[in-house]
Amino acid sequence: LHPCSMAYSDPRASAPLLPPEVSFPQRLLTWYDRHRRELPWRAAAGEVADPYHVWLSEIMLQQTTVATVRAYFEKFTTLWPTVRALADAPLDDVLTAWAGLGYYARARNLHKCAVEIAHNRQGQFPQDEADLLTLPGVGTYTAAAIASIAFDRRAVVVDGNVERVVSRWYAVDEPLPQAKPRIKALTDRITPAQRNRDFPQAMMDLGSGLCTPRSPSCLLCPVSEGCQAFIMGAATAFPKKAPKKPKPTRFGLAYWIENDRGEVLLTRRPDKGLLGGMMEVPGTDWRSDWRAQWPDPQAELSGTMLAGEVAHTFTHFHLRVRVVVPDCPADGAKTAVEAIKKGATWAPLEDLNRFALPTIMKKIARHALENR
Ligand code: SF4
Repeated sequence: LHPCSMAYSDPRASAPLLPPEVSFPQRLLTWYDRHRRELPWRAAAGEVADPYHVWLSEIMLQQTTVATVRAYFEKFTTLWPTVRALADAPLDDVLTAWAGLGYYARARNLHKCAVEIAHNRQGQFPQDEADLLTLPGVGTYTAAAIASIAFDRRAVVVDGNVERVVSRWYAVDEPLPQAKPRIKALTDRITPAQRNRDFPQAMMDLGSGLCTPRSPSCLLCPVSEGCQAFIMGAATAFPKKAPKKPKPTRFGLAYWIENDRGEVLLTRRPDKGLLGGMMEVPGTDWRSDWRAQWPDPQAELSGTMLAGEVAHTFTHFHLRVRVVVPDCPADGAKTAVEAIKKGATWAPLEDLNRFALPTIMKKIARHALENR
């Protein structure tokens, strides 16, 4: 027999050659068993998480970092240990406890959802993704996260971390946000039908611990085999992002009105819209067309404009506010403000923390107190 006619015998040939994505969950979950993060809302390994904790943390984590959420989660679960306790709390207390987390519509929906669960669902969260989606403030991502993490249902959970891992692993060329449906379909492809609680959390831990935005630790990564971005040596080139539109700047005036009892006038913002239902230092609307005249007062109230300005950035725009101390007596100013804003109330200066003031309003108060 000529040697060339002998079949080459590869010692690995007896093992089936599976595409790497088949073993993705297995490799990831083995890594997770050793490296999972301990988080206050997470159950210990092998234990079952409290759906209230899962829901609360997922709502808080939307647009907010884990480091920030930890303290808020502890505060909420100490004040309101159950969903029924949260439902019984006055909305104002919830908004005050939420102050600083931003996106205040989340806090109002959180309370609405707690009331729905406590009063109409015997204090039990639904387990099914479609049913969860009917709850106030629960969107596609949150429904999937609760269904899997709290109730062990198979669900395709895609947050920012998962988006990054998957877009790198498959080297998704399409930029975000257009690539979202494709990334979801690819995540579905690697989501196993076992360990439904653990898989999404393992993906999130991989994204936050190793597959980080700026310096991924590919050499430590349990799923580097088969990762297209790693193979291309271009991990940080993914996810591709569409160029951001520049944020516009809006301008406004805030009226700092103190009476002689050491109180300042606050009003409540309308329930709907930005910072809905939160307390505020009253002022003008925030407008982008003031660029030409600002900081000349476009004010309903005339007065002394304090030196300096307050800057704040929201998701969709930058804001610059100047603070005016009206000339007229406090009661007259209150009447003028009430003509343009509802629900004016005097708030003791030494007790401002008791009021649900969002971060921008805290900045305005600090600026006024330092410069008046
Ligand atoms: Fe992310 Fe690198 Fe792992 Fe690929 S190999 S998933 S880029 S950490």
